[in-house]
Amino acid sequence: MSSSPSWPCAALPDADLSARTTLHVGGRAQWLLEPGDIEELRRAYVAARERGFVPRILGGGANLIVADGVLPGVVIATDRLRRCFRPMNDGNAHAEFEPENVSSRIAPAEPAADPRLIAWCGATLPSLVQNATALGLAGLECLAGVPGHLGGGVAMNAGGRYGELWDSLELVRVLDEDGELRDLPRAECTPRYRNGGLDASIVVGAVLRLKPATVAEVRERSKQYLLEKRRVQPVTEWSAGCVFKNPDPARSDGCSAGQLVERCGLKGRERGDAVVSALHGNFIVNRGAATATEVLELIEELRALVAERTGVVLETEVKVWRA
Ligand SMILES: Cc1cc2nc3c(=O)[nH]c(=O)nc-3n(C[C@H](O)[C@H](O)[C@H](O)COP(=O)(O)OP(=O)(O)OC[C@H]3O[C@@H](n4cnc5c(N)ncnc54)[C@H](O)[C@@H]3O)c2cc1C
Repeated sequence: MSSSPSWPCAALPDADLSARTTLHVGGRAQWLLEPGDIEELRRAYVAARERGFVPRILGGGANLIVADGVLPGVVIATDRLRRCFRPMNDGNAHAEFEPENVSSRIAPAEPAADPRLIAWCGATLPSLVQNATALGLAGLECLAGVPGHLGGGVAMNAGGRYGELWDSLELVRVLDEDGELRDLPRAECTPRYRNGGLDASIVVGAVLRLKPATVAEVRERSKQYLLEKRRVQPVTEWSAGCVFKNPDPARSDGCSAGQLVERCGLKGRERGDAVVSALHGNFIVNRGAATATEVLELIEELRALVAERTGVVLETEVKVWRA
């Protein structure tokens, strides 16, 4: 990717997005911007708005389907914003969003004394789980095996039966629609199931408050959750995670979305190379050459058949970007 004189950061025209999603389908973006720090991210966003674009934000592409063809406008990727910090022993956590503010003479605090991690939006969820484990800090084990970036995880409130990312958030730094950076304490936010509730704001970074534990304890829990995940989800295949949100159990006879798909005999249903996983009914996997169109058609087919056979209309969890 080369730096374009017309954008304030690295920029790529006509960029292939399929390789940047875990499902490996979809088309190209008119512009893909890749800021390398928070100020570049802010300036890229403002520049896009000044040119009449409302930028879309791409994290790890792990819960995303990009439609085939060309997506007009600007996509801002967080891939180069991977930094993760420990608070200093002067107690100043917020300064570490800007690493130049961190004095190298101040040592990181002891994990037990200050159990926080500070990360930019492009820090990967697996790296955060790994860092927390190495420090003996508990709270992120529920994300073991969940791909994606911190920003996408906050926006989607990633998690599962053992907890959610928002359980560990103390503060989220966002870029609002006016291009201003704002700090949102957890108490001012209303995250919901698979929805961080931040609307159009871009997650720039977050302060995570974890719980002091032992390395062995955290490692063992992460390992168990990961093993369980591998048993029930096709984690080694190309997918976009869960296609549908789990419905209200009162309306679905206690069934999850995957169980409804399975009950309707739809596991193995296929369109081209897009197929409903034999392991988990809520995952569509790409066997190699699927197109976004095939995946999207398969999703609508599943939704219609499940509604017809059970009366439950499933709501899509995966995000879809269309022109
Ligand atoms: C094999 C597999 C297993 C999975 N297991 C789980 C699981 O157990 N639990 C779970 O919750 N999810 C799971 N997922 C889905 C996915 O990992 C999560 O939703 C993850 O949080 C997506 O993060 P991302 O960075 O990839 O977001 P993306 O897919 O890039 O984006 C998703 C949405 O978030 C928005 N977004 C991304 N970054 C930002 C940002 N910085 N600011 C604002 N909005 C942003 C995007 O615009 C888009 O609307 C799984 C996915 C796969 C492929």
